[in-house]
Amino acid sequence: VEQQIRCIGCGALIQSEDETKPGYAPKSVLEKEKEEVICQRCFRLKHYNEVQDVALTDDDFSKILHRIGQSEALVVKIVDIFDFNGSWLPGLHRFVANNPILLVGNKVDLLPKSVKYPKLIHWMKQSASDLGLKPIDICLVSAVKGIGMAKVMEAIEKYRFGKDVYVVGCTNVGKSTFINRIIQEATGKGNVITTSYFPGTTLDMIEIPLDDGAAIYDTPGIINHHQMAHFVDKKDLKIITPKREIHPKVYQLNEQQTLFFGGLARLDYIKGGRRSFVCYFSNELLIHRTKLEKADALYANQLGELLSPPRKHYIDQFPPLEAHTFTIKERKTDIVFSGLGWVTCNEPGAQVVAYAPKGVDILIRKSLI
Ligand code: GDP
Repeated sequence: VEQQIRCIGCGALIQSEDETKPGYAPKSVLEKEKEEVICQRCFRLKHYNEVQDVALTDDDFSKILHRIGQSEALVVKIVDIFDFNGSWLPGLHRFVANNPILLVGNKVDLLPKSVKYPKLIHWMKQSASDLGLKPIDICLVSAVKGIGMAKVMEAIEKYRFGKDVYVVGCTNVGKSTFINRIIQEATGKGNVITTSYFPGTTLDMIEIPLDDGAAIYDTPGIINHHQMAHFVDKKDLKIITPKREIHPKVYQLNEQQTLFFGGLARLDYIKGGRRSFVCYFSNELLIHRTKLEKADALYANQLGELLSPPRKHYIDQFPPLEAHTFTIKERKTDIVFSGLGWVTCNEPGAQVVAYAPKGVDILIRKSLI
């Protein structure tokens, strides 16, 4: 008989179908354990002091945000600097109204070494302001490499004024990696990581105790459905997700030329004289240049072959590319393919058509680099 078993750690309903959802436990565990089942997330927390991210529904997430809004706390908002807009979490500042927000840009290790941090912080401040958020401060980190962690922890200590801290961010920004770093650095002897019950949601929060009785809470990651990550399989996700410092590729294009970014995105240069386009994508993603007049046929014949990812076996499920037309009006403008990368146009006046799978955002912004 199928019975509803709950995790003895967090209380989530145990399931073996989806590793990314609350209450996941492998089938092998369920066969062994009949009574006291603990989900994989709680297991790792208990035995390795390590958090594993699971995705939360939008509804649960808004409940959590509401609670944060009603408490006095510092909110640490993590964004992926490589996918700034895609990882933004638009509604946050309205919910947490009066609480200070510390904005943390993660994955700085991906940007070219020539990028200066003060300039980047200035850019983030401006972009946050355009999106309606005035953070109390901005930090840059690489959670994986451990860059900037001491500084961000100092900032947290400074701005929390003895209050609790909530860490929020959408999935894949590196929130678990960040939290695990904090756990490593913050847990002295006697400090025990626990989960704390959060009313009305399917999942509890990780609670990292601080010396003065307050705590850092890790909120579950929220899924952003507009990211390219949802349109490719796991193997291709590895190709499009940059792992190392990005080497920009510069293309001198004539009018009526096209660039393909694998088969995932496309940029047609329509008009504006010969000029350069600087491409910031994962070093593993192949860029293919062709004449605009040949582009449609090439895509039809070579998707999954020359133009890959997506790999051949799932091109039938891959959504058609959708066109977005832009005229570049300012100098130093980025054309951003959400979650995939961007192309910088240094001089104004170019007419372009940018393509991404239906559902993936394309936007124009002031150049990040
Ligand atoms: P979460 O879903 O927000 O909890 O993100 P994870 O911590 O699971 O990380 C998502 C992906 O981003 C993983 O592939 C990590 O290795 C990667 N990642 C996390 N932090 C960094 C970082 O500082 N730099 C780089 N390059 N990758 C990172």
